Amino acid sequence: GQYEKLSMEDVANDEIGQMGRTFNEMMALLEENYRKQEEFVSNASHELKTPLTVIGSYAKLLERRGMQDEKIAQEGLSAIRAETDRMNKLIEQLLHIARRSETQLELSEVNLEQMLQGTVEVMKTSFNRNFVLISQEPGLVVTTDLAKLKQLLYILLDNARKYSSDRIEVKLKMEGAPTIKIQDYGIGIPKEALPYVFDRFYRVDKARSRESGGFGLGLSLAKQLADSIGVVLGIESIEGMGTTVSITFSSDFNVRDLQWNQEGS
Ligand code: ADP
Repeated sequence: GQYEKLSMEDVANDEIGQMGRTFNEMMALLEENYRKQEEFVSNASHELKTPLTVIGSYAKLLERRGMQDEKIAQEGLSAIRAETDRMNKLIEQLLHIARRSETQLELSEVNLEQMLQGTVEVMKTSFNRNFVLISQEPGLVVTTDLAKLKQLLYILLDNARKYSSDRIEVKLKMEGAPTIKIQDYGIGIPKEALPYVFDRFYRVDKARSRESGGFGLGLSLAKQLADSIGVVLGIESIEGMGTTVSITFSSDFNVRDLQWNQEGS
């Protein structure tokens, strides 16, 4: 009777209350997403505007004095070229970010040591720097998306190169699961900056990073690639000593259809 009716109302009230709370949480999430999108667009626009401004002013200079003065013509043209290269790189990265979940995974069996050997060779010749591969696992094979894994590695190796001048070590090991570590002995990252390095457009030192051509998108792209192939990224760094970024493969057979196994086992 009375007791039951009250309790039904209580239940109903509670459900409405719960729905209200869920709705509020959803709205807060949407707003946060929207804010992030706005921030992203505003950052991207700003980054594109900088090279455009430089190109514009050099074009003006060329118009005024480029015909008479060959030195100015040369300087102007190479500045314009450098800035268009930068813009191209930025747009390429933005397109990668935008395309994220569109592309399907193309899985194949990859011998990690062989793949790393090739990647290290490419980096060595491209940048004339000392990249060394240290592997304890010649037979380690994982099932993964090779193109995406390589893209991820190139971002990390490129950072190691940009922010150091000594040798760069690439290590392959089993640490419960297959693990690749990229270790540099460069400038390192201050402790307080470490939580933000995977954020879009985040740079520890804007001026320095701009010099090396970075927009602060590399690591956020790396994180996106890592998520898509189901590997975990870790970063450790000591300012002034160097940085180590690790890629850990899943040791769980069923996670997202990815698997690893050791050849011959
Ligand atoms: P960028 O394109 O500017 O290098 P990233 O997203 O790749 O951007 O990295 C974000 C920031 O983290 C960089 O600007 C740099 O300050 C810092 N960083 C990344 N990798 C390293 C590294 N290996 N050593 C020192 N600092 C690094």
